Amino acid sequence: MQLPSSTLTPTRESRIDVKPFTVRLNLHGDLDFFLRSGARGRGVERSLGEKTSVKDVIEACGVPHPEVGLILVNRQPVDFRYAIANDANVEVYPVGTSYPNFKDKRLQVVRHVRFVVDGHLGKLARDLRLLGFDVAYDSQADDRQLLGIMDRENRALLTRDRRLLMHAVVNTGYCPRSQNAEEQTVEVIRRFDLVGSIAPFTRCLRCNAPLRKVPKAEVIERLEPLTKIYYERFLCCTGCEQIYWAGSHFSKLQKRLDQIRVNFAA
Ligand SMILES: [Zn+2]
Repeated sequence: MQLPSSTLTPTRESRIDVKPFTVRLNLHGDLDFFLRSGARGRGVERSLGEKTSVKDVIEACGVPHPEVGLILVNRQPVDFRYAIANDANVEVYPVGTSYPNFKDKRLQVVRHVRFVVDGHLGKLARDLRLLGFDVAYDSQADDRQLLGIMDRENRALLTRDRRLLMHAVVNTGYCPRSQNAEEQTVEVIRRFDLVGSIAPFTRCLRCNAPLRKVPKAEVIERLEPLTKIYYERFLCCTGCEQIYWAGSHFSKLQKRLDQIRVNFAA
C-alpha cells in the first residue's frame, strides 16, 4: 500500500506552501541611525519564509515602531499590521517628514506635551521641565514602571533603550540620537513640535509641579539673610514648596536655556 506523499511528509509540505520571499527596506531621514554602522546608507534586504507583519520586519532591522511616521509597501501606504507574504519594497519614513500625498496615513501623533523620561536621561528631564514641560522622571524607575506611567498618564516615552521603545504597549515615544542633554532637548522639541509651547520657569525642576508667584512676605522666614536683602520676586512650587528666585542658580538656568534656544535656531 502506498500512502499519499503529503501524509508522509506533512511538515515539509506545509513549509513548501510558503514560498521564500525577499523584502527590501529603504530607511529615510535619520532612521538609519538604528542600523549597525556598517549597514548605514544602504538599503536593507531580508529573506523571509513566512507571512510577517511589516512592523516586525521593520523592528527586526532595529527601528522601533514609534520612530516610524509612514510606511509604503510597493508605493502604497499601510499600517503596522499589514502582512507581507511576497517580494516587496518597503519605504520607511521618520516622523515629521512631509509627505503631502499621504497626510492621512501618518502612523504617529506629532504633537505631544507630556513625557515620561528613562532614568538614564536625568539632564534631559530637567531641561524639559526648565522649559515648562510636564515630565515624569524617577531615576530608579524600572521598565515596567516607565511603561505603566506612560500608559496611565498618556505620556510619550523618551528613552535610548530601543528594546523598550519596541514594546507593544508603546504608542508614542522617541529615542534621542545625541548623547548630549542640550542636543537631546532640541531633538525632542523638534520631534514633538514644541517650540510654540515653551514656558520657562513655570515648573519645579525637582518634582515637576507647577510654580506659582508668591509675595516675599509669604516666604521670608525660609530665606537666607542675603536672599532676603537682594531679591524681591519669588516663585514657590505648588508640590514640594521649593522656593525659586533669580539668584545665581537662576542665571545658570537662564544660560542653559539660552544655549537650548541657540541650538534650536540653528
Ligand atoms: Zn517641587
